Amino acid sequence: MKRDLWDAEHRCTKCNSVMKRKKMTIEGMEIRSWECRKCKEIVLHPEDAQKMLVFSKLKKGIPVKVGTLGEALIMRFPKEVAQLYRITKGEEIKLRAESPKKLELSVD
Ligand SMILES: [Zn+2]
Repeated sequence: MKRDLWDAEHRCTKCNSVMKRKKMTIEGMEIRSWECRKCKEIVLHPEDAQKMLVFSKLKKGIPVKVGTLGEALIMRFPKEVAQLYRITKGEEIKLRAESPKKLELSVD
């Protein structure tokens, strides 16, 4: 098993003190971070910082092309979106009408 960055000891780049792990919730997303015990500097886990970046892009909306597969219309998920929402091939996603111009996808 790959040893995660999360399990390793981190030292503050500002004061060199040992940092403690801290989980935060930002906009409903669990974000792993480290906080310096001394100067309170916070560093986000790079994977989670990347997730937040994708999430904020998605909040503004991203264009997705509709293609065809035989008779059906298909929509492609950008890889980073699929990773963020843990969508995998064969998975069932719920589609719900919000208005004639708006569809909602849920992955739960
Ligand atoms: Zn510090």
